[in-house]
Amino acid sequence: MSIDLSGKCEAVFAALSDEGVRPRLLLHSCCAPCSSYVTEYLDPYFDLTLFFFNPNISPEEEFLKRYSELIRFVDERFGGKIAVICPPWDPEEYLSAVSGLEDIPEGGERCFRCYSLRLEATARAAAEGGFDYYCTTLSLSPYKNAEVLYEIGSHIGEKLGVRYLPSDFKKKDGYKRSVELSREYGLYRQDFCGCTFSEAEAKIRRERKTSG
Ligand code: SF4
Repeated sequence: MSIDLSGKCEAVFAALSDEGVRPRLLLHSCCAPCSSYVTEYLDPYFDLTLFFFNPNISPEEEFLKRYSELIRFVDERFGGKIAVICPPWDPEEYLSAVSGLEDIPEGGERCFRCYSLRLEATARAAAEGGFDYYCTTLSLSPYKNAEVLYEIGSHIGEKLGVRYLPSDFKKKDGYKRSVELSREYGLYRQDFCGCTFSEAEAKIRRERKTSG
């Protein structure tokens, strides 16, 4: 049975509005297009800080390109209101986390390890920084499993003492809105998830399209 994560998220919004509080949330950001909608959606309820921790993205030029697009979007949309934290890029962290799973196609166990790596780092930073909640933009993508993200995120959150915001941001036309915002702000929209394995898979998809 699937969990209504979008409904759970809205229930948190309603409770916060009733209590009249505006908690601090550390939001793991994978890229500017996904963050465009998610920040728009969460900003009315939370004091947001973005956490661009993505050692999965390769090569470094791609990592820097996605980071600079994120900074540009946040500046243009929010001025100085939302800070962005970017820990140093260390691809070895990712490669050792997915060691032995390199050949598993996108959407499988390799990705689940990649989610864990990024969520754990975000939750640790949130706990250290005294944030009330943490979450990730990842569920915006139709290729990402929101229930697995919720399971991993909640488990890590309980372990480290910081609440994971239940969410499936692709719902309520979230993905569609991110495409609109990307167009509006002229954001770079990559056609692969981030790791070299996903880049190779995207290349095969492109070749099949052009030859079919
Ligand atoms: S496809 Fe994306 S989520 Fe999966 S391992 Fe690669 S970078 Fe991580």
